[in-house]
Amino acid sequence: MYEHLIKHLSFFDGIDILEPLMKRHFKDRIALVSSFGAESAVLLHMAAQIDRDIPVIFLDTQKLFWETIAYRSKLVDLLGLTNIRIMKPDADNVRLLDADGELHKTDPDMCCNIRKTQPLQEALSGYDAWISGRKRYHGGGRTNIPALEEADGRLKIEPLARFTPADLKAYMEHYDLPPHPLVAEGYHSIGCVPCTVKGGSTDNPRAGRWAGKSKEECGIHWTLNGQPVRLAAK
Ligand code: SF4
Repeated sequence: MYEHLIKHLSFFDGIDILEPLMKRHFKDRIALVSSFGAESAVLLHMAAQIDRDIPVIFLDTQKLFWETIAYRSKLVDLLGLTNIRIMKPDADNVRLLDADGELHKTDPDMCCNIRKTQPLQEALSGYDAWISGRKRYHGGGRTNIPALEEADGRLKIEPLARFTPADLKAYMEHYDLPPHPLVAEGYHSIGCVPCTVKGGSTDNPRAGRWAGKSKEECGIHWTLNGQPVRLAAK
C-alpha cells in the first residue's frame, strides 16, 4: 500500500523524512511512540518542530522508573507538546495474569504483551502511520531496520535508524536538550525497573535491558502475528 512512499522517502533521515509525512501524507493520521527514555529527546524535539500537537503515545507499564515520569513532564513542558496519550495496561488483564506483579520473572514476553503491546495496538487504532525511535547501532534485531516499512497495514517510520551515537550527542548539545536523569547514573537504555540494570555502553546501550535473558525486545516491534516486522526498502 505504501510502496511509493517507501521507495521515494527511505533515503531521508531525521526531520527531512518526518516533515513530508507529518505535514502532507499522514496529517492527522500519524502518531509518535516514545518511551521518554535515554535518547528520546532527539526525536521528540524533531517532531515538535513540525507539529507540537502530534499525538505522542506513552506506554505506562506501571513498572517504570519515577525518573522517567518526571523526565516526561520536563520534556513535554520544554517542547510544548500538547497531545500526550498515556496508555496503561488493561486492569482485567493485570488482575488475571499478573495479580502479584511478578509476571516479568516467569513470563516476560507475556508481561510485555499485556503492559506494552496490547496498549500500543489499542492506541494506534485509527492511525495509518506511526513514528518510532529505533537506531541500527543498537544492534541485534535492529541492525538493519529500514527508515520506512509497512507493518500490520500501517507505515512505520524510523527517522533515527541511521543515526550514530555521535549524531545524537551532537543534536542534544546543539539544541541544549536535557538528558534523562538516569543517564548520569550509568543507564544507557531505560525501560521498566525490574528489567533494566545499569550497564551497556554508548555503542551497545541495550545491554542493560533484560540482562541475563535471551529476550532483546519487548514485542511492540513485532507484527500482530508475533513475527518481527518484515524489512522493506533500506
Ligand atoms: S520490560 Fe519487564 S516489567 Fe516491563 S512490561 Fe516487559 S517484562 Fe514487564
